[in-house]
Amino acid sequence: MNAETRPAWKSAHPAYSTETVEQVHHWTDRLFSFRCTRSPTLRFTAGQFVMLGLMVEGKPLVRAYSVASPPWDEGLEFLSIKVQDGPLTSRLQHVRAGDEILIGRKPVGTLVMDALLPGRTLWLYGTGTGLAPFLSLIREPEVYDRFERVVLLHGVRQVAELAYADMIEALPQDEALGELVGGKLLYYPTVTREPFRNQGRVTDLIRSGKLFSDLGLPAFSPAEDRVMLCGSPEMLVETKGLLEGMGFEEGANSRPGHYVIEKAFVEK
Ligand SMILES: Cc1cc2nc3c(=O)[nH]c(=O)nc-3n(C[C@H](O)[C@H](O)[C@H](O)COP(=O)(O)OP(=O)(O)OC[C@H]3O[C@@H](n4cnc5c(N)ncnc54)[C@H](O)[C@@H]3O)c2cc1C
Repeated sequence: MNAETRPAWKSAHPAYSTETVEQVHHWTDRLFSFRCTRSPTLRFTAGQFVMLGLMVEGKPLVRAYSVASPPWDEGLEFLSIKVQDGPLTSRLQHVRAGDEILIGRKPVGTLVMDALLPGRTLWLYGTGTGLAPFLSLIREPEVYDRFERVVLLHGVRQVAELAYADMIEALPQDEALGELVGGKLLYYPTVTREPFRNQGRVTDLIRSGKLFSDLGLPAFSPAEDRVMLCGSPEMLVETKGLLEGMGFEEGANSRPGHYVIEKAFVEK
């Protein structure tokens, strides 16, 4: 059954709504984005993730995906890796406009504002597809009510992997969000394996202090800074160690703290 013949109330599986892919954009041979329709019943908080996937041999094949679009957007957007032999993404990378996709009905996750104590500067640090939850957060007006400044750090290997750079750089001129974002959002993309205006790993740039001198901001302090991290398991261990060495305490939905983390993927 496809989206046109299935009544709206009926889904391929009760835990998922069946949505329709509207647009696909391939950034590189390892990275793509897509937009799909959004069930009117799906409510989420900026920074959360959902289970997402395809029906394969009559069963849902799903993986965790951060929602990259903001809660006010009537559609949903995702940023995805292409793992050539990955059970899901070897298939998902071939989706086209009009195809059906399963979206879980229960958004969850720790990269949410309520898991952080009040602070002055919110640092969002993602590597690779770990950018995705922050694409939602930087377009959530409440973020700019809660923080005086928002700094988005995106670490990638190659310049072409700086997905959404144009959208992020244009936000201060955006008709709806420009006034909120202008002067408050700082974007610091950095590349490790090619020449670029910012180079090196964010953790090294924190240790050397270059990150702060480049941005004209004081070094991290648990009194003023709040941090959200989304990256590989190794990136999380390293950055967590750095932050805890400076006195930062990890937060959770039930107990807000100075920083929160989410894995961008799980190493198998
Ligand atoms: C909380 C959470 C949120 C996630 N959000 C996203 C997201 O927004 N976008 C996204 O592309 N993936 C995301 N992932 C990873 C995603 O769930 C799948 O692992 C990914 O889609 C690959 O699925 P697969 O079945 O093709 O391969 P899998 O069998 O799931 O993965 C195979 C291997 O590929 C590598 N890998 C998987 N995902 C990534 C990745 N994103 N970046 C680099 N290497 C990877 C790992 O080495 C992994 O062991 C998230 C994972 C978690 C736990």
